[in-house]
Amino acid sequence: MSEHAEVEVLVVGLGIHGSAAAYELALRGVRVAAIDQFAEDHHRGSSHGRTRMIRRAYPNPVWSDLVERAFAGWERWERASGETLLHRTGGLYAHRGTSQLQGPGCEIVEDTDRLRELMPSFVVPDGHQAVFDPSAGVVEAGTALGVARAGARAAGAELVFGERMLRWQASGEGCLVETSARRIRARSLVLATGAWVGRAVPRLADLFEVWRIVTVTLRSGQPPARPPWLGAFSVDRPEGLLFGIPDAAGNGFKAGIDAGEVWDPERPVVPPTGGEISELCRLMTRYVPGVDADPERDVVEAASCLYTMTRDRRFVLGRLPWAQPVVVAAACSGHGFKFGPAIGAAVADLCRGEERRDLDFVGVERRLGQ
Ligand SMILES: Cc1cc2nc3c(=O)[nH]c(=O)nc-3n(C[C@H](O)[C@H](O)[C@H](O)COP(=O)(O)OP(=O)(O)OC[C@H]3O[C@@H](n4cnc5c(N)ncnc54)[C@H](O)[C@@H]3O)c2cc1C
Repeated sequence: MSEHAEVEVLVVGLGIHGSAAAYELALRGVRVAAIDQFAEDHHRGSSHGRTRMIRRAYPNPVWSDLVERAFAGWERWERASGETLLHRTGGLYAHRGTSQLQGPGCEIVEDTDRLRELMPSFVVPDGHQAVFDPSAGVVEAGTALGVARAGARAAGAELVFGERMLRWQASGEGCLVETSARRIRARSLVLATGAWVGRAVPRLADLFEVWRIVTVTLRSGQPPARPPWLGAFSVDRPEGLLFGIPDAAGNGFKAGIDAGEVWDPERPVVPPTGGEISELCRLMTRYVPGVDADPERDVVEAASCLYTMTRDRRFVLGRLPWAQPVVVAAACSGHGFKFGPAIGAAVADLCRGEERRDLDFVGVERRLGQ
């Protein structure tokens, strides 16, 4: 594109949500350009790595419709690409005291024999209540990101890496955006900037806190870590919830803790330390005692990633009330990946002027009213 390029929609940020938005917009025939400040394979944000968890079990039924749209969206992307994006393994979620999780098909399981039958490798600690979600499983995150970007390009979107948005201004019927390379006029601007959302929209900055999160992946091929012996799981702990993603399709058994130090995304995220890796290995063998988790021998990947947290763990998704051409897509708080195709479709609807009252529970106005 030349200087003062004109597009219908400019998407800023090419993590899973910006990539999904570009794909879904291009599929609808919209002329879309998308930029990211880093290289295509960067590890500075939240969407890198091979796998993520998907589940219907959520703490509030207000999520149910978006969850259904997500499952339907992954299946649609699978049909379009010919790739396998979901592995259904079932999921067991253990909470201290009483679990608040619910969802279609979910079942509270208290009987130890039944727990063992559902997921033989996973030990639910005493004093915890477990919820089983038969539709939970593993998203092939790396493949999904590739499918979204390839699909967007094939449908005519322009994706540019290594170009940073410096500032934007809503003007008249659209937006004027200045990047590190050019100026772009767009009818709509989508800000899918992940941990940088507070920089992109300073008036929303107080809603978010960015955390550094660490994960460890064990070598593939250990039967106790594979479905059907192990599915997706989590254990609620005072020090932070431990989540586990089984070794489906050779991706290895991955675990992480839903807590970490506050991090400035402008600083490259520091890789996991030896102590952090050892602690995760210890927890993996504590809750899945059949696996080998020697930090030297069995760990194939230790990664750091950013969570962008809101206080109530809900997303911030919708038009800016004071700048209508701008759509913010912050599907964050450590559980947004599973919604990729649904967020992309929602953004496409909003950019095309459609009403999405179903998204009011994560809407910008609701958040500002808190
Ligand atoms: C360790 C870990 C485990 C997780 N596990 C799960 C899980 O099991 N299930 C699940 O559903 N979710 C999970 N999540 C959450 C999920 O991965 C995130 O919600 C999701 O990836 C967020 O994607 P995004 O596109 O919003 O952000 P990002 O992937 O961070 O993308 C934002 C992009 O915007 C770009 N950008 C920012 N500012 C600018 C600018 N000014 N100009 C140009 N580009 C800019 C950045 O470079 C970045 O590439 C996990 C996250 C982590 C970190």
